[in-house]
Amino acid sequence: MIAARARGRPEIEWANWKDARPAAAACPTGAISYQDENGRRTVRIDLAKCTFCGLCADVDEAIRMTSVCECATRRREDLETRAVYNLHPDGSHGGMISPPAHATPAQSESLEVLGQKIKERAKEMFGRSLHIRQVDAGSCNGCEMEIVSLNGPVYDIERFGIHFVASPRHADLLLVTGPVTRNMELALKRTYAAVPEPRLVVAVGACGCSGGIFGVNYATRGAVDAVIPVDVYIPGCPPNPWALLHGILLAMGRWPEKADRGRQERETAGAGADAFSPPRNGLPSGCARSKLAPGFRPV
Ligand code: SF4
Ligand code: SF4
Repeated sequence: MIAARARGRPEIEWANWKDARPAAAACPTGAISYQDENGRRTVRIDLAKCTFCGLCADVDEAIRMTSVCECATRRREDLETRAVYNLHPDGSHGGMISPPAHATPAQSESLEVLGQKIKERAKEMFGRSLHIRQVDAGSCNGCEMEIVSLNGPVYDIERFGIHFVASPRHADLLLVTGPVTRNMELALKRTYAAVPEPRLVVAVGACGCSGGIFGVNYATRGAVDAVIPVDVYIPGCPPNPWALLHGILLAMGRWPEKADRGRQERETAGAGADAFSPPRNGLPSGCARSKLAPGFRPV
């Protein structure tokens, strides 16, 4: 299990939250925000931007930091939680009008159970182990430190049949860190195109999910999904190995659906190839060229 002292997501006592303004002012990334309109306040917390720094919990007793790090989601919007409050004349919260829709995820099972699930799912889907290509698209290397830990003696994920590979052509899944720098944008697109379909993409960390503290600027494109399609988002800054494993397991759950969709698309197009067709003309079959940059050429 994850250590009790590990830093996970902040948890808000939504029903007893008196005022979101101090926490929003303290939040360095804009993960907590609010909008006042017609005597109502809509408050949002966006885990895609959250670095789990704990500054909001320091200034607001309705917020506490937890060790819950299994926050990965399949949709970007599921990382955002919002609630609507009536406002008192002094700007503090009255009653809650609309409660948050997403429940806090529960702590899951042991490392062995999680690892075995990945191993069994990989065997069921691929008939072999899971191969991952990691792409640093502009990370500060914090996320890489955690990814490297997956291969260390504590997690030792090779025993669960998870292997990091050097070539994207050997990979089933891309693990992408960092805000995508403009220098790495084309390299990321080419790496994505080189992974055989149905490829899975996991955006890692606050930077990968939203651009993080870097956002979008002259040097970065921001979130990974601004450049290539993403299947799973793993928040955190950096997400710990436990959170990474949880996100990888979640991503594997998307594989059958993507394989079926790809097969149907090829049948409709009359290509007659199956999901394991080798790349043709340098591009994996069914590669979504339209999503790639103008002038893009496969490696
Ligand atoms: S933990 Fe830090 S980044 Fe996350 S909401 Fe709180 S202040 Fe913002
Ligand atoms: S999410 Fe945090 S640790 Fe990961 S690349 Fe961004 S700043 Fe670094």
